[in-house]
Amino acid sequence: MSGKRVSNMAIKRINRNRIFRYVNNNDRVSKPDISVELGISMPTVLQNINELIEKGLVQEVGEFKSTGGRKAVAIASIKDAYYALGIDITQNHIGLVLTNLSGEVLRHRRIYYPYTHSKEYYKEMANIALEFLKKEGISDNEFLGAGISIPGIIDDKKERIAYSHALSVSDIDYDNFSEFIPYKCVFINDANAASIAEMYHIENRFNAVYLSLSNSVGGAIIEERRPYLGDNIINNMNDLLYLGDNWRGGEFGHMTLIPDGKQCYCGKKGCFDAYCSAKALVKYTDGKLEEFFKKLEKGDEKLYQIWDEYLSLLAIEVNNLRMVFDCTIIIGGYVGSFIEPYISKLREKVAKLNTFESDGSYLKPCLYPVEASALGAALQQVESYICKV
Ligand SMILES: [Zn+2]
Repeated sequence: MSGKRVSNMAIKRINRNRIFRYVNNNDRVSKPDISVELGISMPTVLQNINELIEKGLVQEVGEFKSTGGRKAVAIASIKDAYYALGIDITQNHIGLVLTNLSGEVLRHRRIYYPYTHSKEYYKEMANIALEFLKKEGISDNEFLGAGISIPGIIDDKKERIAYSHALSVSDIDYDNFSEFIPYKCVFINDANAASIAEMYHIENRFNAVYLSLSNSVGGAIIEERRPYLGDNIINNMNDLLYLGDNWRGGEFGHMTLIPDGKQCYCGKKGCFDAYCSAKALVKYTDGKLEEFFKKLEKGDEKLYQIWDEYLSLLAIEVNNLRMVFDCTIIIGGYVGSFIEPYISKLREKVAKLNTFESDGSYLKPCLYPVEASALGAALQQVESYICKV
């Protein structure tokens, strides 16, 4: 096969993929619209739309109002053609999200079921997930598979969980989690998954650091890259993540904040996690973060002081991250879902620390506070399907 022929095939594939993504990311589009927006000739658009209709991925959904000439046919993707499930494993809960080709949360559930590394747990976890799917009446041929989010270091090459302090396990096979799930499963670190959920619907991507402030602190580094690299590579969302040499890139929780400071769960002292995980706040309100922010809003003096100190320490971490990465910083995780009313205060604090900037507008609250990790895990399956369209 000549190089030119391979290249032509690749271009054909990339065109079809771009056309499908464009239709899928919009409610209704016209064929001339696609041609203009993507810079692809009308005959190529027509041929690809016909192929996508044949594949059951797009359909005609009426006409656009005439602007003088012939009315243009409206095209939309069939978002319910395929579904995927996201499973977020935490120390005490199992989070579930159902999504389709739209990448939106269609249904979600969170169940109290503490993790143990046992056959009994894996069996029950699979039962809970399958029961959730069954309720939706989704058939096997419209189901893409499951994505499993884990609070730990994922070694995807060896298909193992290298380390998870939250789950108290190290060096265990993926198979443990997927043994009782009769579908294709993929695995991802929880903060990486949440960052994918966060960035998924953003059309004009940008460099970002996602700081996940949950029961432990995690993070993800997202590099803005063109969605299509070279001739025959169609990027998966995962390719946007910087993972480092040992899959530990973005473990911001264990950056030293205070030398010889508070004991961290990792065994070291003074880690950022020991000061700014959600646990640092919920210990004042019986483990309930919502309660913390309710009381804070009502003007609780003691909590106000605790929150102010928390934000000051968080500002140090944020400023350090800004210095290293020079990009947007998104505050996510449990604390991130409550941070919006306080973001300007945090911006003020980071601005005071910053050598180069007088405002903290690069700092943003997360958009996806609900089951972001489970959604991001499910999106892995959606993306790997869409990449092959
Ligand atoms: Zn630590």
